[in-house]
Amino acid sequence: MLRLSISTCSEEFRTAFRHWLQSNQPPKANDASLSEFVRVGRAWQAQLAQGNWVGVHWPKEFGGRSLTLVEESIVQEELVRMRSPQLLGLFGLTMVGPVLIKHGSQSQKQRFLSNILSGSDIWCQGFSEPGAGSDLAAIKTKARVDEKGFYVSGQKIWTSFAHIAQYCFLLCRTSDEDEKHRGLSYLLVDMKTPGITVRPLRQISGDDEFNEVFFDEVFVPKENLVGEIGSGWKIAISTLMYERVVLTFARQLQSEVALRELLERCKPDTDQGLKRELAKELARACAIRALAYEHLLGYSAGKSPGPEGSLDKLLWSESFQSICKLALKFAGTEALRLDNPDMHRYLYSRGRTIAAGTSEIQRSIIAERVLGLPRR
Ligand SMILES: Cc1cc2nc3c(=O)[nH]c(=O)nc-3n(C[C@H](O)[C@H](O)[C@H](O)COP(=O)(O)OP(=O)(O)OC[C@H]3O[C@@H](n4cnc5c(N)ncnc54)[C@H](O)[C@@H]3O)c2cc1C
Repeated sequence: MLRLSISTCSEEFRTAFRHWLQSNQPPKANDASLSEFVRVGRAWQAQLAQGNWVGVHWPKEFGGRSLTLVEESIVQEELVRMRSPQLLGLFGLTMVGPVLIKHGSQSQKQRFLSNILSGSDIWCQGFSEPGAGSDLAAIKTKARVDEKGFYVSGQKIWTSFAHIAQYCFLLCRTSDEDEKHRGLSYLLVDMKTPGITVRPLRQISGDDEFNEVFFDEVFVPKENLVGEIGSGWKIAISTLMYERVVLTFARQLQSEVALRELLERCKPDTDQGLKRELAKELARACAIRALAYEHLLGYSAGKSPGPEGSLDKLLWSESFQSICKLALKFAGTEALRLDNPDMHRYLYSRGRTIAAGTSEIQRSIIAERVLGLPRR
């Protein structure tokens, strides 16, 4: 049975953050253009960082508050309650930041972490390739190695925010050993380095959030290798665990926003069938949130994020799609207009069951690594 209990300390933290938000109102940028979102988002994240409200679960020595993922999620919840735009530097905050704290060298921590917190540096994730998505270990992007560092050549795809990012955390092959998972290395790449070409890709929603990224003998100094050469797979998995837990929690709150809007649109004369569907989605979202909290409480007690994050990711992304589909029913024929926000959100939601690992892959992880069922 699920037991949901948030400590008094955590609730006091929530009150303090609410108090801060009263005199630091979030900007309105939800429907802004990408360049406006970046401009406003950078200033807003800097303001939050100034108040020490970003990366609160990071250790104090790296600019956090040494709190837990529960307090981190409280920050996210309160931001949503105040209708804040999504934080600009989410990939840095939820993926590469925690990974550097765990696996990075002292100088990498010193060089990168504070700019991740303040939002001065935006990071993108260079994992997927045309022939390596679900089967990530099949990546072909190669790095030639010499005593100074690495020379990367190859192609990445679906790289979100590569066109606005200062840095990329990149997985590439540094040796051709038989075992696919071996011979991969994890590099921190400055996106201004000569030899990088970024081509935006237009999505079904009309946004161009993600890109193709081409590397032609791109030099990466040896100080930018995370962990050992050839240990990239272990670090990539650690990144994906954080992505499926911490980033998913932040994304999960998008359901909250969508549901709240539907509740506001629900009037006494709204169709009974629609009301019933909305009630079902609300109940499902509460259950998913409770499960996410259960996991977060485990991490706060010292457990590292593991395969159970696939449950959060799968349940959230599928329920988000279903909420967005319900919104189309509320909108009726209005949803057919090109600029309709319900249609835009629905089209955006389609990618959520693919990004960070498809639903099929999450189901396999749950079957094999959470439930312990035999591999097919
Ligand atoms: C909005 C969005 C943002 C993204 N952002 C990034 C990013 O910033 N950085 C990045 O590196 N990547 C990013 N991705 C890429 C994402 O991680 C991949 O799309 C995803 O891992 C799937 O890989 P693929 O597209 O190559 O599909 P494939 O792996 O080719 O899969 C195609 C289909 O086959 C199914 N399939 C494949 N293998 C199996 C299997 N073993 N068992 C059962 N079914 C299987 C899949 O479920 C899917 O339905 C993003 C994707 C989206 C949609």
